[in-house]
Amino acid sequence: MSTRDYYEVLGVARGASREEIKSAYRKLAVKYHPDRNPGDAQAEEMFKEASEAYAVLSDADKRARYDRFGPAGLGEQPFTGFDSSVFGDFADILGNLFGFEGFFGGGRRRTGPDRGSDLRTAITISFAEMAAGVERVLTVPREESCSACDGSGLAPGAKADTCRSCGGRGQVRVSQGFFTMVRPCPHCGGAGKVISNPCPECRGAGRVERRRQLKVTVPAGIEDGTRLRLVGEGEAGLRGGPAGDLYVVVRVEPHELFVRDGANLHLEQEISAFRAALGAELEVPTLDGTAKLKVPAGAQPGDTVVLRGKGLRRLQHSGRGDLVVHLQVTVPRKLTAKQRELVEAVVAEEGDRPGVFRRVRDLIEGSG
Ligand SMILES: [Zn+2]
Ligand SMILES: [Zn+2]
Repeated sequence: MSTRDYYEVLGVARGASREEIKSAYRKLAVKYHPDRNPGDAQAEEMFKEASEAYAVLSDADKRARYDRFGPAGLGEQPFTGFDSSVFGDFADILGNLFGFEGFFGGGRRRTGPDRGSDLRTAITISFAEMAAGVERVLTVPREESCSACDGSGLAPGAKADTCRSCGGRGQVRVSQGFFTMVRPCPHCGGAGKVISNPCPECRGAGRVERRRQLKVTVPAGIEDGTRLRLVGEGEAGLRGGPAGDLYVVVRVEPHELFVRDGANLHLEQEISAFRAALGAELEVPTLDGTAKLKVPAGAQPGDTVVLRGKGLRRLQHSGRGDLVVHLQVTVPRKLTAKQRELVEAVVAEEGDRPGVFRRVRDLIEGSG
């Protein structure tokens, strides 16, 4: 039995409700389930530990004794396996999750149709392709239903025989730790039937690997990392089951100028301090060329000017986002003789109006 505190094992407070305990166990069971972690002894240990903790804490009587006396309150053999009430609960929790009601004995036969596996792939598109939307043709190697035998795996005119190993049930019982698990029969692969006269095309598998060309339409404005789902484009199902899906993860390369934020684009634009003081009309880059940007007189460093509708197409709504231009006001590092003369005249005109130093001092005195 576990040496750790059951509440600690499940990660719940001592006063946790039955629902909280159930939900905590459910999470751990999903994470550490042996079917999800084949060959991982540590995960199996965690799974057993969580199951043990749940078996005790989900039982009001056992929980009360455990709370008062600790493990000793549960007697010599505190955990002798699952009683039927907990069994039912486990099957309820796990069965729905994994679709293997057969876990605790009985339950579903795996000889029926099986859905094909999902496939995953990734593509990288440029920022411009993202902005405009793009179509890509992918080459996807996948298992497809064999056309020669129509997925049955049988040679023309042949029939399948009942598997002698499992008697056609498609399942065998395996003891693992203190569980008796029901696993697909290794002899027939869970089909319950064996093919002695297989289809020459697929050698009885019912599926063949094909490299399929698939067109993917990437919508304009897609976010980096978005997963597109192509329903039914995964691997073919078994025994008449539906095909899985194909997931395409779309990576978007960053742009050298624009940074996106939803449908809005952000751009940094330099402007000299003199122009900023006077106000100016600048030409700035946009997604589809350039646009005129009116900078108001007296613009300050960090000010933004917004070009409406010059952003990305909105995914769910109509219209486009904005282009937000962040002004980087620059002070020239060198002046020509003529410029120097003019700036000196400007400074003379400024007189002794409050400078930065006085304003900083005002700020400090104001806050004190
Ligand atoms: Zn075939
Ligand atoms: Zn079998």
